[in-house]
Amino acid sequence: MTPPASEKHSELSGLPSVDELLKTPEGTGWLAEFPRRLVLQSIRDTLASKRTRLLAGNPADITRDGIVGEIRSLIAKNASFSLKPLINATGIVLHTNLGRAVLSEKALENVVRAGRSFTNLEYDLEAGKRGKRYSHTKRLLKEISGAEDAFIVNNNAAAVLLCLNTLAKDKEVVVSRSELVEIGGSFRVPDVMTASGAVLREVGTTNKTHLHDYENAISDNTGLLLKVHQSNYRIIGFTEDVPISELVGLGKKHRIPVMYDLGSGCLIDLKAHGIHSEPSVQEIVKTGVDIVTFSGDKLLGGPQGGVIAGRKKFIEKIQKNPLARALRVDKLTIAAFEAVLMDYMDDKGALEAVPVLKMLLQSPEEIRSRAGRLAARLKKTIKTERFEIVSDSSKAGGGSLPEVDFPSFSVSVRPSHLSLNELERRLRKGSPPIIARIKGDALLLDARTIRDDEIGHIVAALAVYLNNA
Ligand SMILES: *Cc1c(COP(=O)(O)O)cnc(C)c1O
Repeated sequence: MTPPASEKHSELSGLPSVDELLKTPEGTGWLAEFPRRLVLQSIRDTLASKRTRLLAGNPADITRDGIVGEIRSLIAKNASFSLKPLINATGIVLHTNLGRAVLSEKALENVVRAGRSFTNLEYDLEAGKRGKRYSHTKRLLKEISGAEDAFIVNNNAAAVLLCLNTLAKDKEVVVSRSELVEIGGSFRVPDVMTASGAVLREVGTTNKTHLHDYENAISDNTGLLLKVHQSNYRIIGFTEDVPISELVGLGKKHRIPVMYDLGSGCLIDLKAHGIHSEPSVQEIVKTGVDIVTFSGDKLLGGPQGGVIAGRKKFIEKIQKNPLARALRVDKLTIAAFEAVLMDYMDDKGALEAVPVLKMLLQSPEEIRSRAGRLAARLKKTIKTERFEIVSDSSKAGGGSLPEVDFPSFSVSVRPSHLSLNELERRLRKGSPPIIARIKGDALLLDARTIRDDEIGHIVAALAVYLNNA
């Protein structure tokens, strides 16, 4: 019921002022403990939300204790960082919403080292004069990918934009209709094309594109032949697409550069691990393609970044584009990248050192035994509830390997006093947050992405949330 206007008015005028609150013993305490600006912001926001509720005719606790309590919890919330670590119990290794790749300790140590000091980011220590920030990753990228030259920009979307703008501004870029994809987080091939100043020339149909479709579209105004990895979806059934090697042949014949936006960009041969759908960067480079682009934080397992690799003459031209300056990476990214790439100098070493590869390619037995450890501790600590190990499967995520099901094991929870949604919400809002999945009548904690040192947190959190119905 909406209170009459006069009553609303008296409740509103009953709210304390910011100054009054600051002068209370609690206010003095807050100021002693927290930055003044943070305290003021929290008081103002609490009072404003009370005012809004009252004006809308909604009930609001305007007792002194109520207000002070709410301010105190808002101060605590505002004083903690917004970006925080969490426990990923979804099983999805490259979850874009959860920040994609987890970095290795070695990469992180290198980030700290570079961040703490001055560095030779753009200083050539041999020559004693200005150097290039791209130099630090060039040797490793060339060696690992097999490309003539390579460098890193802010992300793969930036890499594609920069390449298109450099090689095909005001010219036509020929792309198969089946590859005009949208990748999560609003990367749409046609939109990036427009933003780059290139003109999209679609060829073929959704399910079939032939080499002659590309050839027929070539004119004096063609700037580039582009192939785009379909990433997060697959067209199955009556389909045909042109392999990159044939596109490279066509490009050579007509002297038009050929580019492949690989998306994930895997630097190891996944066939050895039973995955045949994703060619490695090295295989693609070997076809003679002029440019490849791929993400740093998908299958590669590094920081956010976009690698542009290919023929030296094109790479040099792309680096000279003024847009490259706007898309450049900072020293922290370079530090993380260099450390991750160093791990790839040895294929076996990479499997051990790169957390993304380790999590994706760990054996089902390893995952099962981690699920077993979690379930055992849960059963021991929380005797009133049932926990089961269930076999499950997880996806790589981040638009990578969409058709591959990675066999996994989860611990299922069926709370006896709580709804599944309520349990999911409590876990998500905890500290650290735990992100889990509801499937059917159970909440699943997928052991693929849970670290051993997180098991204790999960058990403690569930002990509290399941018992406080
Ligand atoms: C993921 C992806 C992108 C975007 O890469 P970001 O590094 O996220 O910017 C572009 N193209 C393809 C094919 C992708 O899979």
